[in-house]
Amino acid sequence: MMKNIPLHWQILIGMLLGVLVGLAALQFSNGNVFVINWVKPFGTIFINLLKLMAIPLIISSLIKGVSDLKDLSSLSKLGLRTISIYIITTIIAISVGLVVVNTIKPGHFVNETTREELMASFGKDAADKQTAAEETKSKGPLQMLVDIVPDNIFGAASSNGNMLQVIFFVIFFGIGLILIPTEASAPVKAFFDAFNEVILKMIDLVMLVAPYGVFALMAALVAESPGMDIFTALGAYALTVILGLAILLFVIYPIGVKLFTGKSPVFFLKNISPAQLVAFSTSSSAATLPVTMERVEEHLGVDRQVTSFVCPVGATINMDGTSLYQGVAAVFISQAFGHDVTFGEQMTIIFTALLASIGSAAVPGAGLLMLVIVLESIGVSPAGLALIFAIDRPLDMLRTSVNVTGDAFVAMVVAKSVGKLGDPHVKEWDDTYHAKSEK
Ligand code: ASP
Repeated sequence: MMKNIPLHWQILIGMLLGVLVGLAALQFSNGNVFVINWVKPFGTIFINLLKLMAIPLIISSLIKGVSDLKDLSSLSKLGLRTISIYIITTIIAISVGLVVVNTIKPGHFVNETTREELMASFGKDAADKQTAAEETKSKGPLQMLVDIVPDNIFGAASSNGNMLQVIFFVIFFGIGLILIPTEASAPVKAFFDAFNEVILKMIDLVMLVAPYGVFALMAALVAESPGMDIFTALGAYALTVILGLAILLFVIYPIGVKLFTGKSPVFFLKNISPAQLVAFSTSSSAATLPVTMERVEEHLGVDRQVTSFVCPVGATINMDGTSLYQGVAAVFISQAFGHDVTFGEQMTIIFTALLASIGSAAVPGAGLLMLVIVLESIGVSPAGLALIFAIDRPLDMLRTSVNVTGDAFVAMVVAKSVGKLGDPHVKEWDDTYHAKSEK
C-alpha cells in the first residue's frame, strides 16, 4: 500500500503514527510498559541494523573512493578542501547560535526557584557527564590527535565510537593501494568494489523497514518521555536552540546551496529529508550515515568518490547543529547563573565549540558531554549541565538532523568545486526493490 508514496512521506507517516501510539499508550496504566516491551525492541533492531552497516560501509566506500582518485595530490586537495569547508560552516553555525542567544537571552527567563529545582533533580546526571568529560580532557592537549591513530584495527573497528580511527586506517590503506602498481592493486580494488555493492544493497534492504523502525522509535520515545512541566521552564532556551537550527536549515543552507552549487534549495531539502528524519528518530549521525550517503549520491547527484570521502568524515567531525547548540547552551547556562557573557568569552566559545563539536562522537547525547569543555573555557561550572539535562533529548534529535544536513550540504559544495556534481539518479530504493518483486 505504501509502495507509491515517496520515502520521506513513508518515514514521516511512520513517525507520526509512532507519536500517536506513544501518546495513546500513556492514557493506559502500564501502557508505557507495553510499548517498552513490545514496540521499542523493533526500534532498537532498526538502529542496530543501521549501526551494523556503518563500519563496513566506511571501509568499502572509502577504500573505493580513495583508490579511485589515482594520485595523492587529488586526495590531499579533496581532503583539505573538505576539512576547510567543514570548519567554516561550523564557525558560521556557532555564530548564528550566539547571535540568537544574545538576542533572546533565554537565561533571564529562569528564576531562582526553577534553577534550584533543576540543579537538585539533575545534579547527579550532570556530575556523571562531568566525570566522563574530565576523563577525555585530562590527557593533554594533543590527545585528540593521538586518539585518531589506532594501535589495532580490529580494536578500532569494534566500536562505532571509534569511527575516526577506522577512517584513518582506511585512508592510509587507500594511499597504499594508490602507491602500488596497478596490476597488483587491481584484484584488491575489484574485491572492495564488489564488497561496496553488496553493502549498498544491504542498506537498501534495511531502508525498506525504515518507516516501521522510526514508528517504533518514536512510540518508545513518547512513552518514556518525562512530564511536560520541564518544557515550560526551559521553553525559552529550547526555542532559542530551535530558532538557531531553523535559521541554519531554512536560511543558511538554502542560500549556500543556491550560491555555491546552483541547485534549488527545495531540491536539496526534499532529497535530503529521509536522512533528516532518520537522524531525528535515531539521534545519531553515525547510525544515519548509510542513509545520508545514499541520499547524497543517488538523490543529490554527488559523485560516489566525493560522497564516500566527505560523508563519513563529516558524520564524525562536522556537527553544525551540535556546535550551534553548544554555543547557545553555554551562554544560556551562564545567563541563568546571573552572568552575561562578554565579547571575549563569546570568541572563546566559537573556538572551543568548534573543537568540542569535532570531538563529539556521532552518537546520542555526545554534544551534551562535550559541552563541559565549552563551559569550563568561559569559567562556568559544568554543574550547570543540570539546567538543560531534562530537555536535551528532543534538542539532540533536532541538532542531529541539522548535523547530517550540513554534511550533505558540504558534500555538494565540494563536489561542485571539483566538477563532480551531476544529476541525481532519481532512483528510490524501494522502486528498485518493488520493480523486482513485482515481476
Ligand atoms: N547526537 C549528535 C549526532 O550524532 C551528537 C550530539 O549529541 O550533538 O550527530
